[in-house]
Amino acid sequence: MNVPAIAKRTFEELKSKSEFLSMVQNIINELQQLSSPITRAKFIHNLIEELNRDVFSNPLVEQLSPCKMGCSACCHTQVSVTQDEAALMALLVREGIGIDLDLLELQAIAKNDSDEFYKIPYSKRACVFLDENGACRIYKNRPSVCRTNAVIGEIDQCDTSSEIKPTRLIKTPKSDLVIYASFMDAEDSGTLPYMLSKVISAE
Ligand code: SF4
Repeated sequence: MNVPAIAKRTFEELKSKSEFLSMVQNIINELQQLSSPITRAKFIHNLIEELNRDVFSNPLVEQLSPCKMGCSACCHTQVSVTQDEAALMALLVREGIGIDLDLLELQAIAKNDSDEFYKIPYSKRACVFLDENGACRIYKNRPSVCRTNAVIGEIDQCDTSSEIKPTRLIKTPKSDLVIYASFMDAEDSGTLPYMLSKVISAE
């Protein structure tokens, strides 16, 4: 199970509190009532949107966060997705969102190995869903991890073109627990290119 590091860390920090442990268990129980991968992915995405709303609309966060459309630094990094999210993205591709399959395969070779991924030249690390204006073409259906990837501070902290620097992510503990639950319940998970490539190849 490739649980994103931040979600895992948040769970470790909060698991001694019964309300948070119950929250994770309740989400897993709800997921297990849903059989369609698409419905499961959307259920998780909606839950995260709801929980993020208060955090991201805080005036201080709005003032201090440089994240905005057109900045695509985090779309050049490794993003983890669940099997359900990969199925949702594959559906969007089937429905007509064109992607560069050669680029997807190039990135998928790194599988879940971040060292291998960051050996790929910066321009070739761009997510296959990123457009030429630096916007996400599947924004409404973007993966959970993309929904919590927002920072406070200077914009250049996220630039991985020459080195990977520590970033000051905005804390989204409840959303992290939703992500944790979804990855714990997932049939499979891994990096976006690797998982999407696997689903597309199996079709
Ligand atoms: S899915 Fe969208 S938001 Fe997420 S990495 Fe790709 S382009 Fe960026």
